[in-house]
Amino acid sequence: MELNKYRKSKQRQKILGLLKSTTKHPTASWIYEKLKPEFPSLSLGNVYRNLKILVELGCVQELKFGSTFDRYDGNVNPHYHLICENCGQIKDIEMRQETALDRKVEELTDFRVRNHRLEFFGLCEACVPSNGNGKAWHEPVFSAEEYE
Ligand code: ZN
Ligand code: MN
Repeated sequence: MELNKYRKSKQRQKILGLLKSTTKHPTASWIYEKLKPEFPSLSLGNVYRNLKILVELGCVQELKFGSTFDRYDGNVNPHYHLICENCGQIKDIEMRQETALDRKVEELTDFRVRNHRLEFFGLCEACVPSNGNGKAWHEPVFSAEEYE
């Protein structure tokens, strides 16, 4: 899948493998922390550069939330996401993309639609308040310092 433009890189292959093996939709920092023990010379900048290449090659999907909040998905098939506003968890929805929506938008506008993204915001099952006692506490998916 690698284009000749980019030299094969062991680190990049590892990043891709990591993303293919998780459903967490991690941040670049999370990937960096995971691979640091195996690649002591790795920098966060390396991780960002490699992620950028993987996105360009179509091996990885980027969910843009603004710089360090961006999340990466090893699943490049079109799919929708559930995003928990309390803990930051992102989950895939087992539902086919509504391609009819693309045609509908094209009918309403002069825009040629290639694709669309859809995210549903709310609370995951662990964060939904139970019996009106407020939010159930659980470990955030990504701790605050991972965003720094
Ligand atoms: Zn949650
Ligand atoms: Mn996903």
